[in-house]
Amino acid sequence: MMNELDMPTVLFLQKTSYIAGALTLGYLRLTSAESRGVGLLAASFVILAGGSTLAGHAEIYPSLYGALSLVNIALAVLGYSLLGLAFVVISNPDRKIKTWLVVIPAAATLAVGLITAFHLNNTYRATTFTFLGCLTMAATAAVVLRDAYREPLPIRKLVAAILACASVLSLIMGLEFAFDTFLLLDVASGFSLMILSKFVLAISIVIFISERQHLKIRRLADRDALTGLYNRRFFNSTVPSRLRRGDSILYLDIDHFKQLNDRWGHAAGDEVLQIMGQAVQTILPQFALLARQGGEEFIVFLPAGTEDAMAHAERIRKTVSELQYPSIPKDIVVTASIGIARASHERNELSCLCREADRALYLAKAAGRNRVCDADVEIFPQDQQRLTSGGFS
Ligand code: GH3
Ligand code: MG
Ligand code: MG
Repeated sequence: MMNELDMPTVLFLQKTSYIAGALTLGYLRLTSAESRGVGLLAASFVILAGGSTLAGHAEIYPSLYGALSLVNIALAVLGYSLLGLAFVVISNPDRKIKTWLVVIPAAATLAVGLITAFHLNNTYRATTFTFLGCLTMAATAAVVLRDAYREPLPIRKLVAAILACASVLSLIMGLEFAFDTFLLLDVASGFSLMILSKFVLAISIVIFISERQHLKIRRLADRDALTGLYNRRFFNSTVPSRLRRGDSILYLDIDHFKQLNDRWGHAAGDEVLQIMGQAVQTILPQFALLARQGGEEFIVFLPAGTEDAMAHAERIRKTVSELQYPSIPKDIVVTASIGIARASHERNELSCLCREADRALYLAKAAGRNRVCDADVEIFPQDQQRLTSGGFS
């Protein structure tokens, strides 16, 4: 089927597929907030379409062949430089890049063409075009994969694989043009595959952006905006399926937080919530789950392990009491009280465990704050009286 395609048809297909790709990407650029680099990619498609159109015209108007073929190869270089830059920016939108640098290779191509007239030779032009495509796409595949360490999107592997395939395809075509032997692919089939690869790339970028947005929305839905910890909604939807006998729920409530806000301001209170949340997160065991329950309350799911929940809770309480905050005088100790409830045969629902942990927290507050209370351990009134008030007051 591919062998039946003639070159004018291939050039027409190349042009229309670039335009279809540019329209798709242009729409994405206009409708998506996460689209840095997509406009560059659309521009690269438009420029490659322009170059492809000029290639056709150069054949039709022999008198303009020299000028049109030089502009054609310069546009191809500009298009590929923009394509490479676009992928690098899309892969990591925070990257600082001087966009205007992309005109340098195209300007250099124009200059070399004017001096050497290499563009008049079809083979030189085709070889330059294909080898440049090969290098650009191999380099961008490496960048897209390398950026996975900062943003591990699953689609990265697919985009890098498509870029690598397109790069190998360009390499094969480049070698075939250079040696003028078309053993693996004839020109029409090679060009058709290159067109297809660009189209697949455009679609993969649409998926890339939507995957990035989806993860961002999920993060907004699952996390607390102030502390970056998981929120109550995520906790309540995740923990019930993980809950087993022996697991524990810890309720942590900062002591006298309202007074802290009143004395040093809400910004200082926010700072306490952030620093304390991160500090607790770092000392929790691997499979524990910490969330901000709301206000100055945190909740922890602690799977049954080698160490008892009481030991973990004590460690949290001690760590919290030793924290310092930039906006609060160093001699002020901010403390927290913690209530623990353990899952058992009868007490195996999250709502029930939360009620018990809340009751234990209430006992810890009543017993003087800056302490841990276990829902399964009774506190006798005489113990409560013996306990002295601790922490910030
Ligand atoms: P207790 O020791 O009994 O827990 O007393 P408390 O003052 O900590 O508890 P209370 O429920 O009286 O006050 C909680 C305060 O937490 C009131 C509210 O203004 C404050 N708060 C809730 N959410 C936030 C927040 O996001 N940032 C700041 N800065 N304060 C908050
Ligand atoms: Mg509270
Ligand atoms: Mg409190």
